[in-house]
Amino acid sequence: ANSSLLSVFDGNGTTADGHLVPLLANVGGAADAVKAAAAGAQGVGLLRTEFCFLERDTEPSREEQVAAYRGVFDAFPGKKVVLRTLDAGADKPLPFLTDATEPNPALGVRGYRTDTSSPGVLERQLAAVAEAAGGSEADVWVMAPMISTPAEAADFAAMCTAAGLKVPGVMVEVPSAAVTSESILREVAFASLGTNDLTQYTMAADRQLGPLAALNNPWQPAVLQLVRLTVAGALAEGSGKPVGVCGEAAADPALAVVLVGLGVSTLSMTARSLAAVGAVLATVTLKEAQEIATLALSANSPAQAKDWAREKLPILA
Ligand code: PEP
Ligand code: MG
Repeated sequence: ANSSLLSVFDGNGTTADGHLVPLLANVGGAADAVKAAAAGAQGVGLLRTEFCFLERDTEPSREEQVAAYRGVFDAFPGKKVVLRTLDAGADKPLPFLTDATEPNPALGVRGYRTDTSSPGVLERQLAAVAEAAGGSEADVWVMAPMISTPAEAADFAAMCTAAGLKVPGVMVEVPSAAVTSESILREVAFASLGTNDLTQYTMAADRQLGPLAALNNPWQPAVLQLVRLTVAGALAEGSGKPVGVCGEAAADPALAVVLVGLGVSTLSMTARSLAAVGAVLATVTLKEAQEIATLALSANSPAQAKDWAREKLPILA
């Protein structure tokens, strides 16, 4: 490994020409958040709230939820924390929300869709989030997982507004959401690309199946095209709403450069990758990142896209 990748991260994600790319952390609870803050994260780009309650077979109480969320908010006073509402199902079943007998859990009632099968749980979660946010200094944003249509985005935004939460957003992790991002972003304040599921659904390859790992690769040109399309939709919407990435793709330094080149405004990742991503970003200008993204988009395979990007990034040689 290049020794410059191991230097302590100073908290800034910046290209060589000073274009800011806030580097945020993916966390599953307060303990992760404290570690992420110590590692230099500028905030939380994804709080996976289902991780707070994975062992539960009943819905957590309001008090339990407020305590869990406040523990994360308190680690980032004055900073952005993007809380994701419960994403139960498929790889993360929650007995109080999901049906273990579904034949195709990844294509089933998961994420935001459980609002229809279990009415009330989402409203109660949003009320708990609002209470926890009210007593904290964090800048709390809220997003829904597995949004597939502009109508779902509108319904979620209305629920957030009703709960007193001012910054509603959605994950873009279903190809239909990437394709309709302009309409979706008319309804909400921001989008965050979940490249783990976006790759699984674009390639029709179960992310949990080892034999499909070659398909399940966020360097797939089809996935990069959907990232490009999502950003283009946000630009077409016209009010400058941010599109971040919170999938594992953001933790791959060369891919992080490609994502920035495609116009993504923030990157959220596991805290241990922050320093390496920050170090590589600092070696390229925004224009170079855009050129590397164009190159990667023109590749015919994930291996070629990755090789071509890395060839332009001497720090990774
Ligand atoms: C994703 O799908 O990319 C994502 C960030 O969410 P999760 O991995 O929790 O499904
Ligand atoms: Mg996901």
